[in-house]
Amino acid sequence: MWRSRVVLAALASLSLAVGVVGTAGAVGGAPAPGVAAQAAGRSVGLPPVVSHVPTDEKVVFITIDDGWVHDPGVAKTLVEQRIPASLFLLPGATSYDTSYFTDLVDQGRVGVENHTVNHPDLTTLDAAGKDAEVCGAEDQLTATFGRAPKLLRPPYGAVNDDVRLAAKACGVKALITWTYDFTTWSETPATPQLHSGDIVLLHFTPTLGADLQRALDAAKAAGLKPAALMPHLKSAGLVP
Ligand SMILES: [Zn+2]
Repeated sequence: MWRSRVVLAALASLSLAVGVVGTAGAVGGAPAPGVAAQAAGRSVGLPPVVSHVPTDEKVVFITIDDGWVHDPGVAKTLVEQRIPASLFLLPGATSYDTSYFTDLVDQGRVGVENHTVNHPDLTTLDAAGKDAEVCGAEDQLTATFGRAPKLLRPPYGAVNDDVRLAAKACGVKALITWTYDFTTWSETPATPQLHSGDIVLLHFTPTLGADLQRALDAAKAAGLKPAALMPHLKSAGLVP
């Protein structure tokens, strides 16, 4: 499902070039002056690409992708600690054990969001392909969970204005990338210092339990609480 970190880093740079709001990737620091303004000028009417939510509130955003591994311990943590995580799910990864996710939605505070049907790099597809991937996942997730997703995580964080246009046509209000990836891929990444408004990326892999705990511990150490994305996207003026 994943490419090398080098490619991811390159894609993060590409994202910045087309107008990421806030910081991109694991480099931290403030956005380059004028980047947001340039983006706004180029992309009027397109949903924003958000890697960090500007806020003074002591909040952090937990996001978990794909959905292939269904660890009961992770479900227990999400429900018992009432963590308002955004789950960017692939319909195919939920379909063989749908109740794992419907129970999380019913019993916890998680929300299900869009991550396409087949996890392609959306920038490589033509308009019909983008539509099939984004609107197709939207339709399937709506049928399964009874609510239309409003947020899209583009696979690999790969976005451009054509992707944003296609997302808009499928009802997407914002494209969410990430500030830090806490996922243990070949090795466990160093734990960064989290700040208000950071977006944490995790995946439903066999290490999610430990990765989630590292993220929650890092949030606690920084005095931050997990919060729901959409209300903060609205109060930041990123989503109407
Ligand atoms: Zn993914």
